[in-house]
Amino acid sequence: MATRRPMVAANWKMAGSLQLAEELIQKFSRLPDISPDVVLCPPSVYLDNIQSKLEAKASSLMGKNLTLGGQNLSHQEFGAYTGEISGTMLKEFGCKYVIIGHSERRRMYGETSDMVAEKFAMAQRCGLTPILCVGESLAAREANRTFEVLSGELDAVLDKCGIVAFDNAVLAYEPIWAIGTGKSATPEQAQEVHAFLRQRLSDLSPYEGEKIRILYGGSVKSSNAAELFNQPDVDGGLVGGASLNASEFVTLCRIAS
Ligand code: PEP
Repeated sequence: MATRRPMVAANWKMAGSLQLAEELIQKFSRLPDISPDVVLCPPSVYLDNIQSKLEAKASSLMGKNLTLGGQNLSHQEFGAYTGEISGTMLKEFGCKYVIIGHSERRRMYGETSDMVAEKFAMAQRCGLTPILCVGESLAAREANRTFEVLSGELDAVLDKCGIVAFDNAVLAYEPIWAIGTGKSATPEQAQEVHAFLRQRLSDLSPYEGEKIRILYGGSVKSSNAAELFNQPDVDGGLVGGASLNASEFVTLCRIAS
């Protein structure tokens, strides 16, 4: 069985500050080595400054696997797209990862599954690893349509990019009803969905299915992280609100170790 290195990704959304970045970096630099990959996804205007902070602390951050990610990218490479940011730009500012298809972007900015698939492909073309978010609404869950919705979101990317593209990707299960609500999925609910997603990929390629990291996102905090992260198919978390508190976020990363 593949061993998957745990990952904890911080989605600051349109929040956080350079002060928070400073606090986090200070705390990480004082920690002993930790095993998870930790990805900070701040608003893009902070990337330059945070990249410099990380470089300045590089020696004390050795063994911490702390990297940067974008929260979104354009599906275009370059050109007259006011307000957009390209994958190449994210890469230039030190990003290794980029969040794709977050439910807030799907719902509030009209990103369809086809657009999400284009962004996934663009991220990889720019040398970034996509963190692909999928998740069902409360109405879909209550109508027993969870697996149908998740399959649709996953299949859009599989159809465009193929299973091999999942060799360089992270999947995040983020039930919409759990995001920012304080009401996390239970460990059993998370495990059920993660096992389903892994099996769906394994059916196409057992290697990719076993290898891919599947993060859980939705009201993760230090009080529920251990039982969620201990599930066999949960490989860490995508964390919104709790990543805006440096002590809480560092605690979560230690729990994922
Ligand atoms: C998110 O927005 O990706 C998220 C998981 O948010 P929260 O942790 O606040 O539910």
